[in-house]
Amino acid sequence: MEYDINKMYNLYEPKDFYLKSTHPSGITRLSKSSVRTYMECPYRYYLKYVQKVIKLKPITDYPRLCGVMVHRFAAGLHKKHKHSGRFYYKTVKSAVSTWFYLWAKTLIENDQILLKVDNNKADMFGGVGANCIKNYWEVSYDKPDPVIIEKKYTIPWSPGFEFTGVFDQVRPVSIDIIKNKRPNLIENDKLDVRYNPVVIIDLKTGYYDYEVVPDSTEEEKIRHQYDLQRDIQAAAYTLLYKAHNHGKLPLYFAIHQLKNNKFFTVIGEGDETQEILKSSINHVIQGIKTGSFPKNIGPNCRRCDYTTTCLGDNPISISLPDGTLDTNLYPPNKEEVKEYKQLKLKLKPKNKPAD
Ligand code: SF4
Repeated sequence: MEYDINKMYNLYEPKDFYLKSTHPSGITRLSKSSVRTYMECPYRYYLKYVQKVIKLKPITDYPRLCGVMVHRFAAGLHKKHKHSGRFYYKTVKSAVSTWFYLWAKTLIENDQILLKVDNNKADMFGGVGANCIKNYWEVSYDKPDPVIIEKKYTIPWSPGFEFTGVFDQVRPVSIDIIKNKRPNLIENDKLDVRYNPVVIIDLKTGYYDYEVVPDSTEEEKIRHQYDLQRDIQAAAYTLLYKAHNHGKLPLYFAIHQLKNNKFFTVIGEGDETQEILKSSINHVIQGIKTGSFPKNIGPNCRRCDYTTTCLGDNPISISLPDGTLDTNLYPPNKEEVKEYKQLKLKLKPKNKPAD
């Protein structure tokens, strides 16, 4: 039996999906985030990017607010300034004080769109942000400035579709680091001509630590970093960089874990990662063109901003926990209650083996 998705979910005709997901230019612009969203739940993609529910009712929470603010603050440290110090603020102390001031201001400005106001969490993420700023300062102060900060790159993908991404930073890399990270690219102290001596950096403010426990098994190490090494972000940014830099590749992509100043390298140009990226984007495009936006119910719903919208006019009843299985309600007929006995099977070998 074939299901009519439009009737099931009371959606628009597929043609409308396509039109509504496009820019005024008629081009649908995909990003690593929108591709990830579709792969996780096509219906969430539909609500977010086609119906644009987020614009009608924006929602945020403390981790997201903190992440956005830290990114802006780190970029702002590299702004032009009049004093002789490296960063916009003279000292790390003044930077952190300003961070707390801006965090408090942001909380007031976003009060209405926070999922749930919680003063303890507000304080906690104020502290998380301050730690990220302090760590960013410590690791970057004596390094050359990024050559690119917060820049959007876009490439045409297929008729009617573009792919885009915003780089946090692109930084120059010394020959010594290249020798260490990608020794195969150096010959006679010269870098392979297919590469530019730069690394794409992505700032992360989250909890997760990609460092593997030293005595973990190979399987555990792979599981611990699988999403980092095979996620589409490194492949996407490598592709975008190459397209905008005359075919030259970046040396690698690295995430900067701001919570503890650790960097993790990912090579984005590998065949496997590029293939995962391309097949994911093409899969999403196919889904958009055919209006395929099924709901993918699962643990991902627990962190979805659209559960209420997704629910629509079909309420669910919330189940409260029962402490016991109350057998007193329906006492069994005593005659039916038998005493269970162990069956005694007579298992005798037909032919007793010779001693
Ligand atoms: S609640 Fe679940 S099924 Fe509905 S849009 Fe969100 S992730 Fe998808």
